[in-house]
Amino acid sequence: MYTTKPIIILMGPPGSGKGTQAKQLALKYRFKHLSTGDLLRALMHEEKPNKEELEEARESTAKGRLVADWLIFRLAFRAITLELTAHNGIVLDGAIRNVSQAEKFEKFFVAEKLWDQVRVFYLEVNEEELVRRLALRRVCEKCGAIYQKSATGDVCVACKGKLMQRADDSPEVMRARLTMQGKLSQQPVIDFFTQKNKLMLVWADAPADDVFKRIEAALK
Ligand code: AMP
Repeated sequence: MYTTKPIIILMGPPGSGKGTQAKQLALKYRFKHLSTGDLLRALMHEEKPNKEELEEARESTAKGRLVADWLIFRLAFRAITLELTAHNGIVLDGAIRNVSQAEKFEKFFVAEKLWDQVRVFYLEVNEEELVRRLALRRVCEKCGAIYQKSATGDVCVACKGKLMQRADDSPEVMRARLTMQGKLSQQPVIDFFTQKNKLMLVWADAPADDVFKRIEAALK
């Protein structure tokens, strides 16, 4: 389907379905899925993590704040550089959440001569629905599959792993994340990519398969 390497950047508030859509794209088109949230969670589970990195990851995610740019750049660019030669496309899930990150990623992809392949999608969902989704979200501790609690019980249908609630989906942290990472705070980044003619808003208050079709249609 694709003759060039697409670099797909998924943006959206917590609970908008970035992870679910990224996993689908990775599965269907063999794109590499890179989630900065997952990279941070992996860092927090490392046996011998760098102390400074660990402290920053723990403190910020526990408060629902954005993690410092230096740590995002360190984790993301290391992972992207590893994947650029090996894969035919990349889906960046949540990697860009402020303008300084957007500028840095632009610079990186321009230098790699990949800027033309960059497409940005902002998944838009109303806040009431986000609160509902986050309260019900369960994640497989083994394979990372994402579920809604009511539909599935507490065992992953894919790998039989245990389904857990993410620590930052607790009511207090969830509220902080929706304030600090919701549409209002993301608007400057939305404007940045709109001016660059890169952004598409996707109405994501719909079943995941429908949202996926909208993204696919836009990519063709
Ligand atoms: P997520 O799994 O995408 O919901 O991310 C979990 C948490 O990781 C967020 O609430 C932020 O604290 C942090 N995080 C992930 N990506 C970024 C980013 N690009 N910039 C700053 N913080 C981030």
